Formats: sequence, structure tokens, C-alpha cells
Amino acid sequence: MAVMEGCEGSSKTMVLEERICPECGKEVEVYTLRGRIAEDAACECGYVFKAQEQIPRSFDKK
Ligand SMILES: [Zn+2]
Repeated sequence: MAVMEGCEGSSKTMVLEERICPECGKEVEVYTLRGRIAEDAACECGYVFKAQEQIPRSFDKK
């Protein structure tokens, strides 16, 4: 899957980002979608980065 820059339309492109675990300070790779955590990601120490819900601006119609 390629990351298309400048193409922030309606495509859902998840980006793998490194976040620092607040518990142990390790870097944890989490999938993010436009800056929000898209999927739960667990650290080795057991801390879980919870997926953050996006605020729906309106109901999407396909
Ligand atoms: Zn940790």
C-alpha cells in the first residue's frame, strides 16, 4: 500500500506511527488515521493505546 501525499480525500490510509508508551517509555508502533489512533495497539508492558473514535461530521453515504 502506498502513501499518497496530498491526497487526503475520502481514502482511508492508515499510517504506522511510533508513539511513546507513557508507562515504560518505549516506542510502540500504532496505526493512525489522520493523526488519530485507528487500532488498538498494545505495548510490551501491557499498556494499550486505545483506538480513538473519529468525530463524525455527517453520516457518510456511499
Ligand atoms: Zn509500555
